[in-house]
Amino acid sequence: MLGEITAPLQQTLKTAIGCRGVGLHSGRRVAMNLLPAASGTGIVFRRIDTGVEILANWINAVESARCTALSDGEVTSVGTVEHLMAALAGTEIDNAIVELDGPEVPIMDGSAAPFVFLIECAGIVEQDAPRRAIEVLKSVSVVADGAMAVLSPDHRFSMSFEIDFESSLIRRQVKSVVVDVGAFKSELSRARTFGLLDEVSRLREAGLARGGSLDNVIVVNGDQVLNTGGLRYDDEFVRHKMLDAVGDLYLAGAPIIGHFRGVRSGHAHTRRLLAALFADPEAWGYTTPAPTFRPVVLDQPDVRARVRA
Ligand SMILES: [Zn+2]
Repeated sequence: MLGEITAPLQQTLKTAIGCRGVGLHSGRRVAMNLLPAASGTGIVFRRIDTGVEILANWINAVESARCTALSDGEVTSVGTVEHLMAALAGTEIDNAIVELDGPEVPIMDGSAAPFVFLIECAGIVEQDAPRRAIEVLKSVSVVADGAMAVLSPDHRFSMSFEIDFESSLIRRQVKSVVVDVGAFKSELSRARTFGLLDEVSRLREAGLARGGSLDNVIVVNGDQVLNTGGLRYDDEFVRHKMLDAVGDLYLAGAPIIGHFRGVRSGHAHTRRLLAALFADPEAWGYTTPAPTFRPVVLDQPDVRARVRA
């Protein structure tokens, strides 16, 4: 078979595409546009209502109740970036501008699937620079609040996650995935965010989850799911935690080559894990992802010419 072995190139969107939705915590209507960006840009959030741009990087991540938020260090922030970041990581978009006219990425259906759909509708194009990845060379870990998050060396991006809830419906769920484009889309992207009914009520009282509804959050009450239609996967809960981790880890600024293990961990653990990784120069290094085989697609006239010859 004709073809060539080439280093993967950076990718961006073929064209701009937008959507509208509601912010999970703010409850505000927000319009979002995803725009192509030059190689080397990374993922940049642009608040068109304030004119502020914030690079999607763990350095700019701030502690926020129940979501991952980015801040410019002053007054402007962008909340609930994790599901969109997961979709961008999972579809291997290296460079994009995310325009928002409000303080929070729309929650859509609570999963990353609507963002994957948008990206696929816009199309993906290769750019003129090789993709850069971050290779984990040494294990780093964060242990806090009865939870643990670990990054360790692997020749690809893989993940295992364990959750353990008192809820009789959720209980203990364990899952492992090699996170490539296909597995992200089929195994993780459709898993929705979730909450226990009494917890959702508490969040509401605290002024959070104002945009939350059964259209975008799985609400669990005892051993029941309140959403009509039930679950999308039997173990949707652990899959959503993995989706969150894929999004949070993309704040490394490049794809990670290594294994992530989460045990009951959340956004804050993953952020602290990235801080621990980058604090140790021996724990990581930039690398080029494994070369891919690119078949040469012959167009019809060439094929006919070859056959006649
Ligand atoms: Zn989430």
